[in-house]
Amino acid sequence: MNPYPSFLIRTLGILIFVFGMTMSGLAQDSLQTVIAEKGDGILSLLRKQGIDPYASYDDFIAMNLDNLRDGVHLYAGREYQIPLADLNTVAIVDSIQRKTAEVKSIKTREIPILGKEHATVLIKSDRLAGTVYYLISGHGGPDPGAMGKLGGKTIAEDEYAYDITLRLARELISHGAMVYVIIRDENDGIRDERILEIDRDEVAYLNNPIPLNQVKRLKQRVDIVNRLYERHRGSYQRLIVTHIDSRSVGQNIDVFFYHHEKSKNGKKLAESIHKTFQKNYKKYQPNRVYSGTFEDRTSLYLVKKTHPAMTFIEVGNIRNKKDQRRILVHENRQALAKWISEGVLLDYEGE
Ligand SMILES: [Zn+2]
Repeated sequence: MNPYPSFLIRTLGILIFVFGMTMSGLAQDSLQTVIAEKGDGILSLLRKQGIDPYASYDDFIAMNLDNLRDGVHLYAGREYQIPLADLNTVAIVDSIQRKTAEVKSIKTREIPILGKEHATVLIKSDRLAGTVYYLISGHGGPDPGAMGKLGGKTIAEDEYAYDITLRLARELISHGAMVYVIIRDENDGIRDERILEIDRDEVAYLNNPIPLNQVKRLKQRVDIVNRLYERHRGSYQRLIVTHIDSRSVGQNIDVFFYHHEKSKNGKKLAESIHKTFQKNYKKYQPNRVYSGTFEDRTSLYLVKKTHPAMTFIEVGNIRNKKDQRRILVHENRQALAKWISEGVLLDYEGE
């Protein structure tokens, strides 16, 4: 009888193979790697490794491009290569490192309302330099907006609209816009959780309690935006209002865009964002038909009374099971914000 049963030989073969992989793995370890933890951003990850994050930022991006969401965000639990700090230690990476020295310094801005983990915004371009955007997330303070049930938990429209709005603010700021976040919550930054806890401590810019009465609540927003609009008279100014309580309950409509019938600029902004959604659906969700609608709805108080050209966006309805599934995932909230920002760029640059 064969003293080495075939399974043993196979096992040995596998062992050798695995060992071989480990060896090559070790060889690569001279390129330092690290596992991203939940909440890590590129800057904080590099800082934790004792590396000057600004000097190494571009290298990090270049080395890990395949592993970054939107080209800038880490995935928790994944392994990332760390650019070596010392230029002379390893010859192989020498050439990459030398390039760093020539790379321009990274520009960032600190925006505390985005939350501790997200306050540092990387300035990617100046495409929106000189523009002013007012962002209003629906409801807030004593008014949670539409409520949905999920398991035993209650979820509220205002928290999710706020999260999307902050993400949109970050995108616009990263292109050099001046952004006013009108409804604000000092202790809720951008949040990646599925369940966003409901609270009542949102205020209206800069620090006004939000009235419960609906007319007073809307009038407060209108007054704030119109006052700021006067202050920036002559600048390119736009208002974007975000809700998640569309009339589409039971229908199959993804996004509604509203504008003022008499505002050409408002219409163009709404149209541009609408177009961007169409394009992105084709690209990222080819199996789904995009069903956004785009209409004038001057009957809405905010649409009627605010002075900047504006669009009023309803990204589904938080009471819809189908919309809940989407809106609970932070990557989707980010995609919505990104798409709105792409529409904003299209609108502005198409002037
Ligand atoms: Zn609403």
